[in-house]
Amino acid sequence: MRLALGKSWKPCWSRKEEIKRFAEKYNVPFVDADYDMEKWFERTEGMEFDRERGRRCTVCFDMRFERTALYAYENGFKVFTSSMGISRWKNFIKVNDSGIRAAQRYPSLIYWAYNWRKKGGSQRMIEIAKRERFYQQEYCGCAHSLRDTNQRRKEQGREMVKFFF
Ligand code: SF4
Repeated sequence: MRLALGKSWKPCWSRKEEIKRFAEKYNVPFVDADYDMEKWFERTEGMEFDRERGRRCTVCFDMRFERTALYAYENGFKVFTSSMGISRWKNFIKVNDSGIRAAQRYPSLIYWAYNWRKKGGSQRMIEIAKRERFYQQEYCGCAHSLRDTNQRRKEQGREMVKFFF
């Protein structure tokens, strides 16, 4: 098993550091399959104000899975999957659809569309996050999600999420 990760926005580096630390702890090789941020903005152009879980997120998932599928294909993996769909903030079906689409680009490559929320998966995620004291990001990951989160928080009279490098 290997952990591969790709993200498009700099604050995600904190999350990347967390997953690297976690992988190291359990001796799981970590592969940084990061990708081109400029390409992300290019592919999501015109979708800047789409709501979360909409078109922009599907494009975003596609980019992540395309990169992962390429890595899997080039490195002789037959199956890949993602735990991204475990989040209640994500549309599980859309996540899996993107994974399946990406796998179909290569012969014999399979996306394992496992539902990680089942069999206590969601609860386990919360437990591990607490135990490992994972950094809890208050927005999904891109600049647009940060803008929308802060807009919502402003309307609710809550403190804005601070952007940092
Ligand atoms: S909200 Fe999240 S999934 Fe959607 S485009 Fe932004 S980073 Fe990607």
